[in-house]
Amino acid sequence: MKNTLVMKFGGTSVGGAQAIAQAVAIIRGERGAWQNLVVVTSAMSGVTNLLLETAQRAARGEMEGIAAAENRLRDGHFSAAEALLSEEPARRLLTAELGALIASFGELCRAMAVLGEASPRALDAVASLGERLSARLLAAALTAAGVAAQAVEASQLIVTDRNFQNAHPDFAASAVKIHQRLNPLLEQEQIPVVTGFIGATPEGAVTTLGRGGSDYSAAILGALLPADDVWIWTDVDGVMTADPRLVAEARTLPEITYSEIAELAFYGAKVLHPKTVRPVVDAGIGLRICNTFNPAHPGTRLVANPPAEKVTGRQVARAVTAIRSQRLVTIEGRGMLGVPGVAARAFGAVASTGTSVPLITQASSEQSICFAVPIEAFEQVLRALEAVFAVELRERDIDRIWSTPEVSIVTVVGAGMRSTPGVAGQIFSQLGRRGVNVLAIAQGSSEVSISLVVNSAETETAVKSLHELVG
Ligand code: ASP
Ligand code: MG
Repeated sequence: MKNTLVMKFGGTSVGGAQAIAQAVAIIRGERGAWQNLVVVTSAMSGVTNLLLETAQRAARGEMEGIAAAENRLRDGHFSAAEALLSEEPARRLLTAELGALIASFGELCRAMAVLGEASPRALDAVASLGERLSARLLAAALTAAGVAAQAVEASQLIVTDRNFQNAHPDFAASAVKIHQRLNPLLEQEQIPVVTGFIGATPEGAVTTLGRGGSDYSAAILGALLPADDVWIWTDVDGVMTADPRLVAEARTLPEITYSEIAELAFYGAKVLHPKTVRPVVDAGIGLRICNTFNPAHPGTRLVANPPAEKVTGRQVARAVTAIRSQRLVTIEGRGMLGVPGVAARAFGAVASTGTSVPLITQASSEQSICFAVPIEAFEQVLRALEAVFAVELRERDIDRIWSTPEVSIVTVVGAGMRSTPGVAGQIFSQLGRRGVNVLAIAQGSSEVSISLVVNSAETETAVKSLHELVG
């Protein structure tokens, strides 16, 4: 018998009664094979968005949505509870617990409406409710199916800093709590069903690990238990060579290296939260991404970065992704030549708006710096740049700060690029043949990816034609 497995179920994998029944079947199927099984769950799909949007609207004084949101939460969770739990009093107990959490959501929103403010801390309290609901639902469904399970709040397991909405875990402090809380359950052969996404400050205030953070929760638990394996159950057959909605020929990669998946996650493939990779790599734990709705499929296995000479034989380009809804901002002027600190001030200004930059290029003449920002942040970024370079703009050391219309960042990922000359050439001829105009280029110094910026209207053509390079 193998030792310890952590399985994380994403939002669609617990999205309704049928999906939850499927998750229960998967958990039941693995139970015999592992000494210890720990489950981590996301909120039901759409719930986190609903919670946060309702709270934000309430803080702006729009209270009409609160009751409707409460109804939607009750509908979704209660109907699943009814379908999955046929017996009383289990069903009544569960709906009472879920009902109380949903009522507390309404209260939090009404309080925000009164205050006219939604602090990051209050938003985390609201956002955490999605996982607190789904963990109870999944644990009760397991118990009803004869699999002993207990919902566990990750606020009792994962200790974080006070960086609400994007909190960083304290691994050492969390390890202690995880063992204290989970070992007794595991010894009694109970399956802990842990809320993904959330943690708590040392004082006990609930935090969240950032949107999509349930994968990260699973990795943290996996690293600290420690587990032999972490399996991420989602709604696609693992990591695909491209988004199957864009490219009909997209297929599953049986294996992917650490650095490839990190690039893919960063460049918009929604398979795995980017922070997930680090803890499992550091702890030497296996990671698998698999499909709740096609559990017989082996999915994708994460493997160590192979040495360069091993990569050369493989297909060089492994996957293609796109991040949409960006704009390219360019700062240009002859007065920037040889002047130190322009980039630091530019990115300082961008950072002050809380925007992160997915791509940067600088011409070697040093007469322009160009970078991408998400479209919704762009006005704010432009204003911050104009403020920070007010003097240079007046003196004409900087001629202008301008931006393109909407663009996409298309990225080709493959660890073999490092040791294979000519990949960039192939990429450009491929795009040239299709008449796709490339606005900017960046290659990561890790050489695991090449990113190109294209007009948003050409995203699909670019992705499709580059996918032909993926063997
Ligand atoms: N429910 C959270 C979110 O939607 C976390 C997750 O699903 O991973 O961001
Ligand atoms: Mg997710």
